[in-house]
Amino acid sequence: MSMELIVRGIPTGHAAKLRGGGPDANGQPALVRIAEGKANPCRHCLQLIEEGGEKLVFSYRPFPRPQPYAEAGPIFLHARDCARYEGDGLPAWFAYLSPAIIRGYGHDDWIRYETAQVLPGAELEAACRRILANPEVAYVHIRSKFNCFQCRVERA
Ligand SMILES: [Zn+2]
Repeated sequence: MSMELIVRGIPTGHAAKLRGGGPDANGQPALVRIAEGKANPCRHCLQLIEEGGEKLVFSYRPFPRPQPYAEAGPIFLHARDCARYEGDGLPAWFAYLSPAIIRGYGHDDWIRYETAQVLPGAELEAACRRILANPEVAYVHIRSKFNCFQCRVERA
């Protein structure tokens, strides 16, 4: 039997604060830019921001509290409101992340080094299931080849 996954975008409350000019992980307001090209994923709805659309650019720390493994880095958000992604699988476009970085984190929010891999996007879901089969792994992060956080994946 295959493990059920839950994939979510970043919390709606945090997205709303950033859209309202609230501070990012560096204590600065998000910058507004026009999306160029096709590789502008919104981390709230987990869809690609349409070319020419407005995006917010800011630093995000996808961890509950600061600690040595709590990396912060640049991500995008639709400048307009959008619906938070919540699903049992990755959005289809993740298949085109080439390559992607995947890592499991322990219940202490530290990297589980043995889980880290660089993979073609089409292999990410199967890798999430393999990594989350280890009960010492609390959740998985998927990142782009630039190490930009994409989303968090947990057991359903
Ligand atoms: Zn969005």
